Amino acid sequence: MKLFNKALTLVFTAALISCGGKEEKKKDGFQYDERSKDTETATQPKKEDGVSEVIITGDDLMKFNLKEIKVKAGDKVRLTLKHIGKLDKNVMGHNFVLLAQDTDLIDFATKAATAKKTDFIPEGSENDVIAHTKIIGGGETDVIEFEAPEKGTYQFLCSFPGHYAMMQGKFIVE
Ligand code: ZN
Repeated sequence: MKLFNKALTLVFTAALISCGGKEEKKKDGFQYDERSKDTETATQPKKEDGVSEVIITGDDLMKFNLKEIKVKAGDKVRLTLKHIGKLDKNVMGHNFVLLAQDTDLIDFATKAATAKKTDFIPEGSENDVIAHTKIIGGGETDVIEFEAPEKGTYQFLCSFPGHYAMMQGKFIVE
C-alpha cells in the first residue's frame, strides 16, 4: 500500500511537471511567432495543433515554389495555392492535384490534359486523386482542406495541359 501511494505521488508529480512544461512551451511558441512576424515568408508553415499548413505558389514561368511538401500523419492539411503571376487561367492556369500512391503521374496528366470541361480533373478519377484545388489564374488563390493520407510519399502536380513536366513534386506524410 505504501508503495502504491508512493507510485501515485510520482505519477501525480510527473503529470504536474509535464503540464507545466507544456504551458511553457506554448508560451515560448507564441512569443516566437510574434517576434518572427516581420520575417515570416509565405512558405513558412504556421503552427496550429493538428493542422499542417501548406502554402504553395505557382507563377507565370510554369513553376511551383516547392518541390517537396512535408506534413504530419493524422493532421488535417490546409493547403493554399496562390498564383503569383499575371496571366489568365486559360493561358497559364494552375491547380494542385495530390495523387493517390498507385496513380501514375504521366498517365493521369495525359488524361487530365483533355479534361478541360471538368477543370482538368478527368471524370471518373475519384480514386486516383486524394485532393485537388480548382484551376486558378494570375492573382487568384484557392484553399483546400483534407485529411493527411497514411504515412508515405505521394506525388503532386499541376494538371493544366503540359504543366506536369515542370510542375510536380513530392508530398511526404511522416
Ligand atoms: Zn500549371
